[in-house]
Amino acid sequence: MARSALIVGAGITGVSTAIWMLRDGWRVTLVDPVEPGSSGQTSFGNAGLIARTSMIPVATPSMVLKAPLMVFDPHSPLFLRWSYLPRLLPWLLPFMRNATEARMREVVPHLSMLIFDASEQHLAVSQGTAAEKHIAKGDYITLYNRQSDYEDDTLTIELRRQFGLEPVSLTRKELLERDPNLGPSYTFGTMFSDFHWLTSPAKYVAALFEHACCEGAVFKQGSVVALAPGETPSVTLQGGETLSADKVVLTAGAWSGKLAGTMGKATKVEAERGYHVSMYAPNFTAPVPYMVTDAKCVVTPMDGFLRAAGVAEFAGLDAPAAKAPIRMIEAAVKRVYPNLTFERSEPWMGRRPTMPDSLPAVGEIDGAPNVIHAYGGQHVGLTIGPKLGRWVTDLANRRPVNVDLSAFKPDRF
Ligand SMILES: Cc1cc2nc3c(=O)[nH]c(=O)nc-3n(C[C@H](O)[C@H](O)[C@H](O)COP(=O)(O)OP(=O)(O)OC[C@H]3O[C@@H](n4cnc5c(N)ncnc54)[C@H](O)[C@@H]3O)c2cc1C
Repeated sequence: MARSALIVGAGITGVSTAIWMLRDGWRVTLVDPVEPGSSGQTSFGNAGLIARTSMIPVATPSMVLKAPLMVFDPHSPLFLRWSYLPRLLPWLLPFMRNATEARMREVVPHLSMLIFDASEQHLAVSQGTAAEKHIAKGDYITLYNRQSDYEDDTLTIELRRQFGLEPVSLTRKELLERDPNLGPSYTFGTMFSDFHWLTSPAKYVAALFEHACCEGAVFKQGSVVALAPGETPSVTLQGGETLSADKVVLTAGAWSGKLAGTMGKATKVEAERGYHVSMYAPNFTAPVPYMVTDAKCVVTPMDGFLRAAGVAEFAGLDAPAAKAPIRMIEAAVKRVYPNLTFERSEPWMGRRPTMPDSLPAVGEIDGAPNVIHAYGGQHVGLTIGPKLGRWVTDLANRRPVNVDLSAFKPDRF
């Protein structure tokens, strides 16, 4: 009889895990209160980048220096709901401790190892499924107001170089040759080639989910309220139903810390909230995705729409979406494309699962056997979802992952 797995949370990490476990001969049940590919998931609304070059952690020395001013500036991409600050502190303090150059130098190699083959990982998980048609290939360009804005960030340049990442520089003239619609604010760019992005993150996750179901996965729509580790681990759903399996996999993104807490093993994953504005039927679109540095947002050409996504807001899991981040993103779009028009736009808010050191939580916690954690992908959670799914499958089989997982211990804080 095949071994069984209960996967709690069916975003990109959960559906990727389901596919790899099914390919490995497991019986799989996915549990989630929302349908995979729907707007309640963070995986629905991201910028779609398979970000094989994004190895810089969220906590950096320069970010922490600027943050106190940024939270008072409505035009900055950092937002804090002050009433939430006391509850944020247990996460914020270790986050600040990680914002040193020394810690960055320790964290970057781990992030690099997680992302360097992200395109191949996505191509492998989606191969032969309807999801693969949602992967696009091209360049990825970062836009700067001035060349010095790029050159002054010497630490990022040096760290990337260590891992063989050297972008091509683009002058304003070269940027305009590629995209005549670009606004005058951007006079310099850097470009990585051989880059992949999703033309619809929602359809991609939905297609992976449908594939998993065709391969035998069962979907149980419901909210898990408690996890019980042990020889035969189980989950309790809202309403009281209990499900058990040989392994429980916790892939509930930003909600995972709360669920781990039901085992007495709360982990420090925070909801780093982000926003997007999707603009449908635009009069033109971007030729490739842009990282817009003065707004810290990404503008991505998608399937029938242009999406601008970014912002880091700390307000907890459940606070309603705010208006100011949307206005900030709309202003950024106006700077990138002053002449853009579109039929309609839709705003959205989602919750990035972010640990204080920007590294994910992967593996079991001592004293809570057979519950495997896999979350905490922060700004690169879409990028690393398929790799985490492979690691979980190896861990469930007690096969060596071939990677030192000690940096990813879920209870390291
Ligand atoms: C604006 C924005 C832009 C981004 N851009 C990028 C990008 O370009 N590239 C990139 O790599 N990453 C990006 N990210 C980050 C990325 O989207 C996330 O890190 C990733 O989607 C997290 O995936 P996940 O599967 O861990 O979580 P989710 O997609 O959030 O899935 C978690 C699932 O758990 C379910 N769940 C919650 N509670 C329970 C419960 N009690 N019981 C059962 N299930 C439960 C939820 O309903 C949800 O479906 C971006 C994020 C944002 C917000």
